[in-house]
Amino acid sequence: MDDLRYGKRNKRGDWAPDSALEVAPILVFPPKPIKFLKWLPSYFLPWNVMFMLLGAVYWFFLTPSVETMKTLSVGWIAYLLVRNMAAVLLIFGALELRLYIRRRQGTSFKYNGKWPSDNKSDVFMFKSQNIDNMIRTFGTGVPIWTAYEVLGLWCFANGYGPWTTFAQNPVWLAAFGLMIPIIHEVHFYCIHRLIHVPVLYKWVHSVHHNSVNPSPWSSLSMHPIEHLLYWSDSLIHLILPSHPLLLLYHLHITGTGAVIGHVGFDKIELGKESGIDTHAYTHYLHHKHFEVNYAEGTIPLDKWFGTWHDGTKEGQELMEARYAAKVARVNATPPQPGE
Ligand SMILES: [Zn+2]
Ligand SMILES: [Zn+2]
Repeated sequence: MDDLRYGKRNKRGDWAPDSALEVAPILVFPPKPIKFLKWLPSYFLPWNVMFMLLGAVYWFFLTPSVETMKTLSVGWIAYLLVRNMAAVLLIFGALELRLYIRRRQGTSFKYNGKWPSDNKSDVFMFKSQNIDNMIRTFGTGVPIWTAYEVLGLWCFANGYGPWTTFAQNPVWLAAFGLMIPIIHEVHFYCIHRLIHVPVLYKWVHSVHHNSVNPSPWSSLSMHPIEHLLYWSDSLIHLILPSHPLLLLYHLHITGTGAVIGHVGFDKIELGKESGIDTHAYTHYLHHKHFEVNYAEGTIPLDKWFGTWHDGTKEGQELMEARYAAKVARVNATPPQPGE
């Protein structure tokens, strides 16, 4: 595919889309029903449908029986950990292999013209972004993901929490399932703003931001405290009536889904003339500029709070004006006594 039909490349080799990023037409005023209907399929396809399918495969084929999960034991907990690690290795690994090792589409649609493996840096363990990212993903990321899953499934098996079934509450469960990506995004926005508070940024979130040029393995490369906060949205299934299938779907949106925003390419090419849109540019700009696009734009939280960067020159100027105002505030001399 000719990526210059869709965007432009600068002198450094960084590609950017021509069209401005737009927030989803859900909570916009005045309402835009036609735009909403045109946008709606992209809410499901391909990513959320893929995560729902993964959740279903997990629940129907890859989760121990309710009887087994009534008692906490090493056997089934270790099994869940290994199956989650295998899923991450397969999915993240497949994207890494295709896009970053075999480089099947070169730098076509690649936001950053450089390759992370060419950049040896002291901020990473063993000076390697990939090795550092993988150690954090498998060392604390997937274990903490699995711990939330074990807690939820053990509660379900023992009847703790307001669990329900699709036979009892089909409308509620369908509505809840539809809302899960949005619940995840609002929760992520809140914890993300929190860990950008300077002291938390320094000790916790800077680990994730070390990957200025993110690739699939950067997705879950976080400090363990961020991992703990990141998956805590799954606790909502212990508060609202839910079903384990929805819990597993939710954990995939949070865990596996993180890879979409960090893939580093705007399209994954499938042939000479087609490709899958990743919508990763919103979060790529967060990794590039740090204080913009804390959420993904499904709900216009960044617009409401003035941190939206739509990728255009105007978006860049707005961000720079905001930074300049912030610097001026910090440097302003406080009034002296008697003034
Ligand atoms: Zn990120
Ligand atoms: Zn951040």
